[in-house]
Amino acid sequence: MIRTNSRRDVLKLAGAASLASLMPSGKSFAQAAGNVVVIGGGFGGATAAKYLRKLSVNVTLIDASPNLVTCPFSNTVLGGFGEMAQVTHSWDGLRRAGVTVVNGTVSAIDAQAKRVTVQGNTTPIAYDRLVVSPGIDFKFTDAGSLMGYNEAAAERMPHAWKAGTQTELLRRQLIAMDDGGVVVMVIPNNPYRCPPGPYERASLIAHYLKTSKPRSKIILLDAKDTFSKQALFQAAWQAVYPGMIEWVSFSQGGNVNRVDPATLTVYTDFGMHKGNVVNVIPPQRAGRVVDLAGLAGTADFCQINPQTFESRVTPNIHVIGDACVAGAMPKSGFSASNQGKVTATAVAALLRGQQPTAPSMINVCYSLINPDYGISVSSVHRIGDDGTIIAVPNSGGNSPANASADFRKQEADYARGWYAAMANEIWG
Ligand SMILES: Cc1cc2nc3c(=O)[nH]c(=O)nc-3n(C[C@H](O)[C@H](O)[C@H](O)COP(=O)(O)OP(=O)(O)OC[C@H]3O[C@@H](n4cnc5c(N)ncnc54)[C@H](O)[C@@H]3O)c2cc1C
Repeated sequence: MIRTNSRRDVLKLAGAASLASLMPSGKSFAQAAGNVVVIGGGFGGATAAKYLRKLSVNVTLIDASPNLVTCPFSNTVLGGFGEMAQVTHSWDGLRRAGVTVVNGTVSAIDAQAKRVTVQGNTTPIAYDRLVVSPGIDFKFTDAGSLMGYNEAAAERMPHAWKAGTQTELLRRQLIAMDDGGVVVMVIPNNPYRCPPGPYERASLIAHYLKTSKPRSKIILLDAKDTFSKQALFQAAWQAVYPGMIEWVSFSQGGNVNRVDPATLTVYTDFGMHKGNVVNVIPPQRAGRVVDLAGLAGTADFCQINPQTFESRVTPNIHVIGDACVAGAMPKSGFSASNQGKVTATAVAALLRGQQPTAPSMINVCYSLINPDYGISVSSVHRIGDDGTIIAVPNSGGNSPANASADFRKQEADYARGWYAAMANEIWG
């Protein structure tokens, strides 16, 4: 049974468990031990780096971007009430915490010699353990990609599923669209980054359209028949945006199998849709850097040991965040950050010849319907008897149906508080 409105209990329970396991215990943690390299300074990698420093481990973090633009809260930019500056974070906080930050793209991993190379640098960086948190990449040419969609197509039909210039492009297109226009969103099948993300995006685009171009419409073409927080989203759409958002499920013909960027047309199993703005969220896989060490094998995402997040394929390399297969944990920033803490603890223990403890993790995903209307889903996770990460039975759940406007407003405030606290903890 799913309990509702149990977020506070969830946070108390899992917060206590995971933080207790992070506390330095006695003099063994006072000794520095080994060098860890972290690839990726997003939610997973930056958290791991920061907590490894707290545990007195030497850490070098490598990220390809000059700064970190988060996907969480990037939908508020599309909704017209958030700024890119609010979702952009510098590396200064990590540097202040003692992390050596290298700005560059990792172009080689030598798992045998235990070293990584940054593009353009001749001297490789040696590691005792490597943490890889590269997020996702899109399937543009791989098996399972969407016909017609590639990097060039994304300039006409933005994905905005990695935040930054793509978010700005989609925002500009929405601003340029005439009142009465049609926004088409193409939504992939599972697994993909942030299960409720597309539906929050539809809601916040609707918020912008309702306030600026009220005769416009949004059509969601979905490769699935069900989605995260579905009943809450659909009830909210009916109440806040009546007639504005049309969701077409897989069974109703929502599965898009080809796109034509030149004419802004998408083709489903049953017909075609032309949009004035087309947002395509393409099928996804682990960030391509994992291929440098064969960490995903022939699969899209990387198998890990859930106690340590060490790769099942290559020893001394840990894969966290969106790039790994984390059982029942969704691909979210909150999950990635929790996995970063668990991995930091495990890596610090392993470097000191100690046994890592069994982790307890949490996830809470907030979604905004508009600036004053929030909903959430939460869960607690541990390793189950089958050795995979499971959701603890009767933990977590969705926001209640039929809650008051005050309650929804409170959840929107919690969402903003969650983001501020996370960003400060990770990059602050
Ligand atoms: C629109 C949207 C809204 C979302 N909202 C939420 C939300 O409200 N709450 C939530 O919890 N999650 C949310 N998410 C999901 C969240 O963004 C991801 O789950 C999270 O970012 C995953 O963290 P990560 O560390 O795996 O990857 P990322 O945070 O993407 O970090 C990966 C980093 O690796 C770097 N990198 C990749 N390859 C290389 C290389 N070869 N060399 C050097 N660096 C490299 C990249 O530059 C990047 O900075 C949302 C996602 C989207 C798209």
